[in-house]
Amino acid sequence: MISYGKQFIDQSDIDAVVDVMRGDWLTQGPKVQEFENDLKHYFGTKYVCAVSNGTAALHLAGIALGWTENDIIITSPITFLATANSIEYSGAKTVFVDIDKDNYTIDLNQVESKIKECYSKGQNVKAVIGIDFAGHPCDWVGLRALADKYDLQLINDNCHALGAHYNNQKTYAGEYADIVTQSYHPVKHITTGEGGSILTNDISIYNRISSLRTHGMTKDLDKMEKNDGAWYYEMIELGFNYRITDIQSALGSSQLKKLDSFIQKRSKIADKYNEHFSQIESFIIPSVKKNVKHAYHLYPIQINFEKLVINKSLLFDKMKSSGINLQVHYIPVHLQPYYRNKYGYEPGDFLVAEKFYEKEVSLPIYPTLDNADVSRIITDLTKYTR
Ligand SMILES: *Cc1c(COP(=O)(O)O)cnc(C)c1O
Repeated sequence: MISYGKQFIDQSDIDAVVDVMRGDWLTQGPKVQEFENDLKHYFGTKYVCAVSNGTAALHLAGIALGWTENDIIITSPITFLATANSIEYSGAKTVFVDIDKDNYTIDLNQVESKIKECYSKGQNVKAVIGIDFAGHPCDWVGLRALADKYDLQLINDNCHALGAHYNNQKTYAGEYADIVTQSYHPVKHITTGEGGSILTNDISIYNRISSLRTHGMTKDLDKMEKNDGAWYYEMIELGFNYRITDIQSALGSSQLKKLDSFIQKRSKIADKYNEHFSQIESFIIPSVKKNVKHAYHLYPIQINFEKLVINKSLLFDKMKSSGINLQVHYIPVHLQPYYRNKYGYEPGDFLVAEKFYEKEVSLPIYPTLDNADVSRIITDLTKYTR
């Protein structure tokens, strides 16, 4: 069965993991810091804190940035639940704004009008979370300018865009956002099984997140009230066990070496899809801005089902019976019962996102998908949507 995403694991990955398992440390050993150093080197931020998953990374970001019930955090509804949930964990209010109709990332104009609207009601907008959806970076120059103008914190939920380029740089994420979060779930670009990290250039954010990752504990003499001896530690604030293991970190370092080649393979698949589906009238291929190199975590194609005999659900069934599992990214988060019940969001609130959801289908894209697979996906999808 072909699915929309899948990990790539080779012998060097297996060897890296086995090596750790034969050693002294399964967790909290040297591999975590090695992985963090490798990530720093690749993504160009001063500090990296690897954690147990991408959701934990977002959760800690909200705490480290001091979000409270009085704050509004703006994000877009075309994302995985975890982005918005991280706002909810902190007690702050989740406010959605619509996406850009061309690259499906948060719409800059909508962000600014929402900020103005909130201010006019006396509400405190504290931060914006942009999602580099599918692997296409947001308009980070624009978002940074807005953040500076209105004194906001800026977070990049970068889970889809490892290895993407923005203005010719794959180190863009940490240049514009105060905090960058990543996930290393097996469907993402590189995997550690479960895993994630927080990247930042701000040492105070880094220190706080490092402590929160392990119960809010510290052995830092400058932070402790006293020191009873070598065993002594203090708990400064309520933290979590959000640690990543050495086993996972060794896998992460081994995977990171292959990230560029993964992106190349994903791009080649996207080129094939683009070449074929750009010729079909009822299909819209994902557009890519000139200053962007897409990382293609997803290949989100839009199909105008209104012009077809088949509907989306039936298409999924037909494709599944030919061994191809399609997916949809995402059900707009504002339409989830939790968010509707809590905030009163309704269908029609974010029309670009909702129209996108009606049409969107994520085609399989991952490094081990071979030419024959891609051809079969193209043939079958074309056949069923004729
Ligand atoms: C995968 C993902 C997450 C959550 O990451 P986990 O490691 O699964 O917790 C958050 N945001 C986005 C956009 C994601 O794709």
